[in-house]
Amino acid sequence: MAVQPYDPENIFAKILRGEIPCTKVYEDDHVLAFNDIAPQAPTHVLVIPKGSYTSYDDFALNASDAEIVAYTRAIGKISKEAGVVEDGYRLIANTREHGRQDVPHLHVHILGGEKLPRMLP
Ligand code: C5P
Repeated sequence: MAVQPYDPENIFAKILRGEIPCTKVYEDDHVLAFNDIAPQAPTHVLVIPKGSYTSYDDFALNASDAEIVAYTRAIGKISKEAGVVEDGYRLIANTREHGRQDVPHLHVHILGGEKLPRMLP
């Protein structure tokens, strides 16, 4: 399946433009993070770059070094501020169709606050 162009009407683009509300937990020049609307763990934060990147591969291959550093650092800071670092947590970037990515704007899920189920049987 061909890679889709960025859709500026996706729900996270609307959140970035302030057209849809979110519960913000972090923001800087390059990054916004907010609580997932349907949390799957006591801590469930979504971290998104402000740039228009559809998915992890798009971001990793096309973002500037400054954006990549800012995004990586923000995920570390937010995890620490959420209090999940000591006991452990999970980062997930569902990617495209086979990865079951629903929203076509890169987002990393930070999940923690309890012992999570194993991902593999
Ligand atoms: O990785 P995936 O694309 O499946 O995840 C999208 C996530 O965005 C879901 O966990 C969903 O609950 C969340 N979401 C949200 N706020 C919205 C729409 C979706 O937190 N307004």
